[in-house]
Amino acid sequence: MIKDKTLGFFVKTNGLVSDRIYGGIGISFMLHRVLPAPLRDQYSINRDLAITPESLDSVIRYLRDKGCRFASMDELLDIFQSGRKPKQKLIFFTLDDGYRDNLEYALPVFRRNRVPFTIYVANCFPNHSAMLWWYWLEEKLRSGHDLTIDAPSLQKVYKWTSIQQAEALFPRIRSELKSLPKTEIANTLKRTFDKDDAAIRQQCEAISLTWEEIRQLSADPLVTIGAHTMDHLSLRTLTDSELDYEITASRRELEAKTGKDVLHFAYPYGTHEEAYTREYQAVSKNFKTAVITHRGNISMSQREFPECIPRMALGENTSSQNIDYMLNGITHFGDNGFVQTIRY
Ligand SMILES: [Zn+2]
Repeated sequence: MIKDKTLGFFVKTNGLVSDRIYGGIGISFMLHRVLPAPLRDQYSINRDLAITPESLDSVIRYLRDKGCRFASMDELLDIFQSGRKPKQKLIFFTLDDGYRDNLEYALPVFRRNRVPFTIYVANCFPNHSAMLWWYWLEEKLRSGHDLTIDAPSLQKVYKWTSIQQAEALFPRIRSELKSLPKTEIANTLKRTFDKDDAAIRQQCEAISLTWEEIRQLSADPLVTIGAHTMDHLSLRTLTDSELDYEITASRRELEAKTGKDVLHFAYPYGTHEEAYTREYQAVSKNFKTAVITHRGNISMSQREFPECIPRMALGENTSSQNIDYMLNGITHFGDNGFVQTIRY
C-alpha cells in the first residue's frame, strides 16, 4: 500500500516535471480505421489498424475530462504562424488512407462529441487502384504455408508451420515489400498474391471512400481532407521526379475533387525508413504541415519544422495510463530523450 502510494507520487511528480519540459502544446493521434468489434475481429494481424467506435468515444471523453481541447490541423497551422501558445492541451485526431469506415463509424463519434479530425486520403483509394497488400499478406500468412517473392531485386521464399510463426514473419515481409522500387512493386505484389486489376478494384470498392463520399466529408466543418500521395509508396524508394508526382498530383486531384485548398500532408508509413530530409523538403514546398509516425509531443518550436510533426498511434489497446504518459511527455522522453522538438 505504502509502496503503491510512493510509486503513484513518483509518477505524478515526474509526470508534472515531464509535462513542463516535453508536454508541449499537445499531441496528434494517428488512426486508420474505425470498425465495430465483429468487423475488426475479422482481421488478426491487421487488427490494430482499427479501433472500435466505443473505444474512440471513451478516449475522447477521457481526454475532455482531463481538460484537453480538440483542434483541427488548420488551428495548429494558425498557432504555428501566430506563435500564440494555447491555454489548454490540444488533441489533433488524424486518420490515414481513406477507408469508408471513417464515414460510417468515425464521423458519427466525432460529430456526437464535436471533435474536428483530418483524413489523409491516398488517391489510389478513391481511384480504386490501391493495392491493400497488408491485407493480402495477412490472408496468405493465415491460409498457406509458404510465400515466394520473385522480383528483379528480391528473391525470397518464406515458410512457416504455425500461425504464430506466420505472424512473426509479417513485419519482416512487410518491410521488404514496401522497400521495392516503384518499377517493380506493382507487378511483384500482383504476382506474389495472385491479384489482378479487377480484384484490386473490387476490394477498393468494398472498403475505400469514393470521391463522392470524400466530397461529403470535406463539406463537413469538422473534417479536413489532407493528402497522402497518389499510390501510397515508400517515398524514399522513388526518383526525384516520381517523388514530385506523388506529392503534387495528389494535391491537385484532391483540390479539384473537393474544391478546397489542401494544406496538410501525411507521409505513407511515415518513419525515417520511408521519408527523411529529401522527402521532408519536397513536401514542405507543397504543404503547410506534414505528419510523420515517429512518436512525440508537439512543442511550440515544432513551428520551425512543420514538415515533420510527430504523432502517436491510438489503438484498441491504448490504456488511459498510456494516454497519460503521452500527454505528459513521458512517452516523448522515452523515445526522444532530451530532444524537445522533432527535427532532422
Ligand atoms: Zn497510409
